[in-house]
Amino acid sequence: MTYQTCRGCVHGAGFCQARENIKAKVKGLGITSIKWKCVWRRPVYLPGDAVWARLFIQYEEQGHPYGIEEPVFGDFPATVIKMLGSKVLLFVEPQAPDSSEEYVFEPNKGGNGHVKIPIGRTRLRDAGREPICPGCSWLTRLKGHEEYCRFTPKDLIA
Ligand SMILES: [Zn+2]
Repeated sequence: MTYQTCRGCVHGAGFCQARENIKAKVKGLGITSIKWKCVWRRPVYLPGDAVWARLFIQYEEQGHPYGIEEPVFGDFPATVIKMLGSKVLLFVEPQAPDSSEEYVFEPNKGGNGHVKIPIGRTRLRDAGREPICPGCSWLTRLKGHEEYCRFTPKDLIA
C-alpha cells in the first residue's frame, strides 16, 4: 500500500493517526495506492531552507588490494527549492566546498547547480533561509534571475 500523501511529510516515517484512519477506511477494498488531502501534513522542508546535501563526488580507490574503486560522497551546503514527493530539488552553489573542505561541488555538464535527491540524503543545516522567487522557484539572488523570470517585483506585490 502506497500512501502518496505521506511522501515528504515529517510524519511519514513514524506513527500517524491520520494515516491510520485512512488505512481503516480503505481496508479490504483492494486499493494499492492512495492520495488524499491531509490536514496533518507538514512538509519536511520549506522552500529556502538551508540543508546539507549528500552528493556523489567520484570513484576512488579505498585501499582495496585489487584497486577496486568505491563511490565517494560529500556533504555540500544547499538551499531547498521545492519538495518533489519523496525527493527534494536543491540548489548548490557551483564550486562550494563540502563539509570536509576536501572537494568542491561541480555541477553536471551544462547544469547550473540544481540537483534532485531523495530526502534521506539531506539534513537541516544551521544557516539562514534564503528567499525563493514565488514566480519561478529560483533563488532570487541568482545571477540571471531577473532576465529569466517573467515576474517583476511589481507583479509579486500586486
Ligand atoms: Zn522568479
